[in-house]
Amino acid sequence: MDLTYTQEEESFRAGLREWLARTLPQLPPRPDPLDWPGRRAYDMGWQRRLYDAGYAGLHWPVDAGGRGATPTQHLIFLEETEKAGAPYVGANFVGLLHAGPTIASEGTAEQRARWLPPVLRGDEVWCQGFSEPDAGSDLASLRTRAWRDGDDYVVSGSKIWTSHAEVADWCELLVRTTPVSDDVPKHRGISWLAMPMDAPGITVRPLRTLAGSTEFAEVFLDEVRVPVANRVGAENDGWRVTMVTLSYERGTAFVGEVVACRRVLGDLAREARKNGRWDDAVLRRRLGRLSAEFGALWRLTQWNVSESQRAGSGVPGVGGSVFKLRYSHARQELYEAAGEVLGPAGALDLGHEWTLDRLSSLSYTIAAGTSQIQQNIVAERILGLPKGR
Ligand SMILES: Cc1cc2nc3c(=O)[nH]c(=O)nc-3n(C[C@H](O)[C@H](O)[C@H](O)COP(=O)(O)OP(=O)(O)OC[C@H]3O[C@@H](n4cnc5c(N)ncnc54)[C@H](O)[C@@H]3O)c2cc1C
Repeated sequence: MDLTYTQEEESFRAGLREWLARTLPQLPPRPDPLDWPGRRAYDMGWQRRLYDAGYAGLHWPVDAGGRGATPTQHLIFLEETEKAGAPYVGANFVGLLHAGPTIASEGTAEQRARWLPPVLRGDEVWCQGFSEPDAGSDLASLRTRAWRDGDDYVVSGSKIWTSHAEVADWCELLVRTTPVSDDVPKHRGISWLAMPMDAPGITVRPLRTLAGSTEFAEVFLDEVRVPVANRVGAENDGWRVTMVTLSYERGTAFVGEVVACRRVLGDLAREARKNGRWDDAVLRRRLGRLSAEFGALWRLTQWNVSESQRAGSGVPGVGGSVFKLRYSHARQELYEAAGEVLGPAGALDLGHEWTLDRLSSLSYTIAAGTSQIQQNIVAERILGLPKGR
């Protein structure tokens, strides 16, 4: 394990810093956090700037439209963009951080050529259609059915908690292509499809969150035709493809946010000094402990990246579950502390970015797999403990 940066990596950092310093002041004002279509336009505009400057898909393979940079350069990119307060990946989250990498690693040459460049250019938004009303943690229980009809699958069923569905162009969709039977266990009959969100038969019903935003939705599918050519991986091999998607989602998708959390922590300390809360020694200790925790999470990220670079696989390992587990709790603690710094007035001010972030932090221990599920994974697959059921 080597956590030091090479001279080449440091000069990459310097070029990026210079570009950020020049570019960030030119950005339009951020949209209202509750204006989801406005946020899509803003996020994709930022992605386009990254693309034009050669910073999109940095660590993606060159034949997938990326720059073929090392995972460490990608880490530097995350570090510097977050430190500079650059826009978050936002609406492009699924496409850029897990659907795209899954297609890059599991898709055919045609699929890579069709779907990856528009993600990098900021032209197309993806959503994730995995969860169903009775299939969340136990994802393999999903019931959305796909029948083969000529060159198409005909898909019927429903999905829930589909983030960005309202503004998405494509959905990474899990369907059951073979019914469960004595011969076919539930995770053996699943396929991974790329579904165009404008296909006839799709109804998106937005769900309003605690914070008032409609960033996720129920999605109803009534005989939606999806070309067989849109299947990534073999028919009925979707569970294996899904494990690749989830390893990206848990292993790398949140790492940039750790830097953002460290920035928020600094902002909180400054705010506390201004409004007198800094005199509270208990609060100061709390902020100090969080600072150590986010520092450790960043080191853990560097270690994970260094290990995947050494192994040469590129696909993050189950160590991502350790990160996801601890990060989601630390993030909740950070925004609880923000509530203390801002006081009751701040907590009631729903327009305040920290208040919205505080409310959304509550979902982090559920999204991308609950903490209990991450604990099961750590226990069974890292510590080698016996299965609980
Ligand atoms: C903000 C947010 C965004 C999301 N975005 C998406 C999205 O874009 N696409 C998508 O497909 N899904 C999305 N989800 C759904 C998310 O993946 C599921 O909510 C999650 O997997 C949990 O499933 P569930 O809600 O069905 O809970 P359940 O599986 O019903 O779990 C309920 C409780 O039981 C516990 N539990 C269940 N099984 C076990 C077990 N074996 N051992 C121990 N405890 C267990 C769980 O940990 C949890 O506490 C999102 C969720 C959130 C909160």
